[in-house]
Amino acid sequence: MLPQKNHSAVFSGPRNFEIKDLPMSGKNCNVLLKTLSCAVCGYDVRVFKEGHKKVRPPIVLGHEICARTLGTLSLPNGQLIAEDKRVIVSPLIPCLKCHHCNAGHFNCCNKLNEIGSSVNGGFADYINIPENNILINGIVPIESSINDDEGSLIEPLSCCLNAYLNINNSVRDEYVIIIGDGPIGLIHLQISKLFGAKTIVVGKIPSRLKEAKSIGADMILLNNDAEESIRTILDYTYEKGGKLIIVATSNPDAIDLALKVAGKNSLINVFAGISKNKFVNIDPNLLHYNQITLSGSFSSTPNLMKKAVDLVHDQKINLRRLVTHRFSLDEIDKAFSITEDYRGLRSVINSF
Ligand SMILES: [Zn+2]
Ligand SMILES: [Zn+2]
Repeated sequence: MLPQKNHSAVFSGPRNFEIKDLPMSGKNCNVLLKTLSCAVCGYDVRVFKEGHKKVRPPIVLGHEICARTLGTLSLPNGQLIAEDKRVIVSPLIPCLKCHHCNAGHFNCCNKLNEIGSSVNGGFADYINIPENNILINGIVPIESSINDDEGSLIEPLSCCLNAYLNINNSVRDEYVIIIGDGPIGLIHLQISKLFGAKTIVVGKIPSRLKEAKSIGADMILLNNDAEESIRTILDYTYEKGGKLIIVATSNPDAIDLALKVAGKNSLINVFAGISKNKFVNIDPNLLHYNQITLSGSFSSTPNLMKKAVDLVHDQKINLRRLVTHRFSLDEIDKAFSITEDYRGLRSVINSF
């Protein structure tokens, strides 16, 4: 029996959630999943605070989703997912017509829609999965070794893996500098270590830097003064600088810092979305004389989500330690204020 009502946290405009029972929409109900866990992303908090051009309220946010199937699902790749199976969900709803979709780069789709941004997402008891998500095999089953909360963090892990696709050269024994000590920075730290890099995590929250150290960062740096941080990093790397610099913070000042600690022939990845209406001045000569590539990456694809599932299943990446707070859907305001105040690491909303 399909449920009649969907208990949801509806984002109705900046700084406003309304907890409501929404009617189940039958029309576009291609696949209905029962939400188990949905993590609060930095993006969600930015949308909550200042709105976003992709997001038209009223809408249910949430794109880092672990859920359960309510019926048997047959995917275009031939995979059959049984009823009551736990799955994770790619947020992508690509057009499947544009040049990028034809190349399989669904995250770069020219008319991309996303679960939790353009259609209702995971901060609700149930989620409708649109057809174009199913057509790219956007639902990925997970094994019982992966719990619901770490399942919800596989989406951000897959986005982090996407950042490494542009790197032509190996980072083994090279310095990787991660600017940002939040959960995303700590996932990048784990991936860089997996690739054999020497890792430096730059941040502003002592408890998070301590966590970075305990994960195995070779160096942690509390960034109170940019000039001092640049000097410390260059000294530590014997003036070599980073081979790869990941900007995992929405603070635009990090891009200037990245340029100044980037080594020759290095790559800077702007991983995080930057707060609305913030711009940076850069010195183009740093790019030119040091042969620095300034790049970015956004979201991921279902194929990368499968790789991410394997990494978690094989215990190569630990997402469990990044979940520090759990809340019910009715407590979503608390989850968002904790995330906004940089308390703990990831907060998740559990729906029962
Ligand atoms: Zn996210
Ligand atoms: Zn497209």
